[in-house]
Amino acid sequence: MGICSICGGEKNKVYRTVSHTFHGITIKLKNQEVYVCGKCGEIYYPAGLLDSIEQMIISRQREKGLSIDEKNKTTVLF
Ligand SMILES: [Zn+2]
Repeated sequence: MGICSICGGEKNKVYRTVSHTFHGITIKLKNQEVYVCGKCGEIYYPAGLLDSIEQMIISRQREKGLSIDEKNKTTVLF
């Protein structure tokens, strides 16, 4: 699982709701596998997780043709 790059503590796998904001839209994904440092509590996201959330946001923007104002208010919960 690896070692925390901040404090050198051990990282533990946990399931968390991950929230990421991109282009003014916040997407929350439940039960995502992330790693949390047992010492300092720093959260490490698996490679590609935030990228895939950004891809979801981009595709939703295309589907709905959201304007800037609408985007700022939109929260999408999966
Ligand atoms: Zn740490």
